[in-house]
Amino acid sequence: MSFATLGLSPALLRAVREQGYHAPTPIQSAAIPAVLGGGDVLGLAQTGSGKTAAYALPLLQRVLASRDGGPRRLRALLLLPTRELAEQVGEVLREFARSLPEPLKIAIAYGGVSLNPQLMGLRGGVDIMVATPGRLLDLVEHNALRLDTAQTLVLDEADRLLALGFAEELQRVLGLLPAQRQNLFFSATFAPAVQALADAILREPQRIAIEATPAELPDIVQRAIQVDTAARTPLLRHLIASEAWPRLLVFVATKYAAEHVSDKLWKTGIKAAALHGELSQGTRRQVLAALKANEIQVLVATDVAARGLDIPDLPAVLNYELPRSPADYTHRIGRTGRAGASGVALSFITADSEAHFRLIEKRQGQRVAREQIAGFEPGEVASEAQAVGGIKGKRKSKKDKLREAAAQPTR
Ligand code: AMP
Repeated sequence: MSFATLGLSPALLRAVREQGYHAPTPIQSAAIPAVLGGGDVLGLAQTGSGKTAAYALPLLQRVLASRDGGPRRLRALLLLPTRELAEQVGEVLREFARSLPEPLKIAIAYGGVSLNPQLMGLRGGVDIMVATPGRLLDLVEHNALRLDTAQTLVLDEADRLLALGFAEELQRVLGLLPAQRQNLFFSATFAPAVQALADAILREPQRIAIEATPAELPDIVQRAIQVDTAARTPLLRHLIASEAWPRLLVFVATKYAAEHVSDKLWKTGIKAAALHGELSQGTRRQVLAALKANEIQVLVATDVAARGLDIPDLPAVLNYELPRSPADYTHRIGRTGRAGASGVALSFITADSEAHFRLIEKRQGQRVAREQIAGFEPGEVASEAQAVGGIKGKRKSKKDKLREAAAQPTR
């Protein structure tokens, strides 16, 4: 299969070549003709599979074709759940648009930075808007743009945008869009409840689910290392030294942990920084740029970094703390092993998180062998709350309790 057979214009075929893409990925082969056809599309494919270009290329072609020589007005609205993704997707669109015969204006907007430059940027109209929902609504309230001329709505990471946290904002945006429009929803994961919400919005969508064959699956080796809670940072330092990863993304559960762990690494001479939702947008951008430019080696992040971020040449991801949901685990580990590269995803498993990891393994239908690292062998047993079913655990039998009591070191 080649890009030339998918119906893209010569200008966009040139853009694809300039990006160094030789052949379309499976989601691109299926989605590009579907989007060009004008109908609704629901695209499901794993992270790192080329989803962005799958909708960006045909979208640009349709937007260009609909220009009528009149004043610039909004043709396509792309919603993303995080600021980083809005920026990343906006830049991909701008890069492809550079090859077009006519310039298209692509605006990017997200919260956490001042509104004024974004307001000014919309003067004279815009063809494509790439935004997070909250900031988009702010801009509409300031009369900086109208949504009623949009012909296409794209939800990337659609399952996140349809979930509860964004429900109200999304409903407001939908109310401002014309009823007659093309809807393109893309995601790697779709829970059944979210699927029902999508079904209520989409009209006779073409459903494109790319079941990756083993050969196409991202080459991610999963490892699970058993360790005591208190030994996680020393083990992390040990692994950074012994594995010599040029770059590492470490996931933790809270903003506090992101700061705390990165501080501890920094104090022992490892160049590390934290990334979480409470940092200013400028800092978040700087930190990501520093990782990409090799100015820092380790990024310690909360789940703001779990979805969609494309960090080139990231050989390893490490779950210092496990994510709450199995879907988030898939997204986190998908930051490595992208675009055909191989990667390793490690998870620290403490006595208290063992039951939760088993649930994650069950959901992904794959068991990961437990390992221990010499010098860091765990001695902890699960706390009562976890063991008695905090997270899908089994109530311990009397025998188990006695056995555990016997195994406890005497103080
Ligand atoms: P995405 O899933 O859209 O985040 O894309 C993941 C990575 O794959 C990005 O770095 C893209 O530049 C790259 N990519 C997308 N499509 C292709 C293709 N057809 N050939 C080679 N690389 C691609």
